[in-house]
Amino acid sequence: MGEHFDLLLAGAGHAHLGVLRQWAVNPKTRPAGHIGLLSADAHAWYSGMLPGLLRGRYALEQCRIGLTELCTAAGVELLLGQACGLEPAAQQLQVSDGRQLQYRYLSLNLGSQPLAPTQYGSGLELLPVKPFSAFIARWQRWQQQPQPLAILGGGAAGVELALALAPQLPALSLLTAGNLLDGHPPALRKRALAYLGKAQVVVQEHCRVDEAQGQHLLSAARVVWRGNRAVIASGASALPWLQACGLACDNQGFVSITASLQSSSHPTVFAVGDCASLAHTPHNGVYAVRQGPVLAHNLAALSEQRALRTYQPQRRALALLATGDGGALASWAGLTFEGQLLGRWKDHLDQSFMRRHGNI
Ligand SMILES: Cc1cc2nc3c(=O)[nH]c(=O)nc-3n(C[C@H](O)[C@H](O)[C@H](O)COP(=O)(O)OP(=O)(O)OC[C@H]3O[C@@H](n4cnc5c(N)ncnc54)[C@H](O)[C@@H]3O)c2cc1C
Repeated sequence: MGEHFDLLLAGAGHAHLGVLRQWAVNPKTRPAGHIGLLSADAHAWYSGMLPGLLRGRYALEQCRIGLTELCTAAGVELLLGQACGLEPAAQQLQVSDGRQLQYRYLSLNLGSQPLAPTQYGSGLELLPVKPFSAFIARWQRWQQQPQPLAILGGGAAGVELALALAPQLPALSLLTAGNLLDGHPPALRKRALAYLGKAQVVVQEHCRVDEAQGQHLLSAARVVWRGNRAVIASGASALPWLQACGLACDNQGFVSITASLQSSSHPTVFAVGDCASLAHTPHNGVYAVRQGPVLAHNLAALSEQRALRTYQPQRRALALLATGDGGALASWAGLTFEGQLLGRWKDHLDQSFMRRHGNI
């Protein structure tokens, strides 16, 4: 039998950071008992600032939150390790180093991973943008000998990465399965294409990369790019071990949850952020942050047998994309904007988030 927790938080995602902060600031709201946080990394990285970090506008320490201090302040035991299996019936989470963690209640905020093309042979290094610490370490190595690069994925993350990295590379291509910035207003795509054009990024739309063979990227058996290095930023896909563990999942493998943020098959398990699936709730950080207060309330309420709250996803969210030059593109309610002032506002919002969670 492994270590036992009354409540185990798995992953230091955005919602869990909010929960930890609430317990640190207002200890009365912390549920009683032994609480642990299992995290693969000793820091929680803030994706909103990653483009600024890569562009050299921020230092490493400005973009990550130290979990030791936050957990200590919240009265939570920090366990470093990679979750690799879950047995909901036995209420047990498995860690890759062999530890078995027993829980009464479990909350999952583990994020997602970019979907990589199948790779045959060597010659092309494929670098997923997540986990961030591994991405940054490899990128720092690559920076010492810049080479042409492909970015796979034309969502907000791919566009921000391309605009941040373009001036540092001899050539950069952005390959995307559908239209650039699918799901955003067409006017935002137009604005982004203009910025990418100015930065000399070659954009290939409707080009789903499904294979890497030797030094080639292929789309439907056609070679679409040749080189040695590619970054994978192709949106959120489910963690394979989580979709295989027996919790009810949607057809993409994300954990199905109810409006109280509980697993729809196992109510002692909560799931939030990118790893969870709920109607009208896109996979991005804005929604994960907003789930935090409801999760904090429900974790305490369930163990004290009080009424649970329901999470209502906001009907629209502001999208702010860094353009690499200190400015930003924005879309809100179908309208789009751009400029340096928006960039300063984005910096302010990002740094406020970091101050809220880092200065406990
Ligand atoms: C370059 C880039 C820029 C982005 N910019 C924005 C933006 O400006 N606004 C926005 O809303 N979204 C943005 N996103 C999307 C955003 O990063 C994700 O949607 C968001 O991080 C999801 O949050 P989360 O709380 O689900 O999990 P995450 O923030 O991804 O956190 C997951 C946590 O779980 C840990 N973890 C993962 N697997 C395990 C495991 N097996 N065991 C233990 N711990 C584990 C990780 O270490 C991490 O701490 C961006 C993404 C990228 C790639």
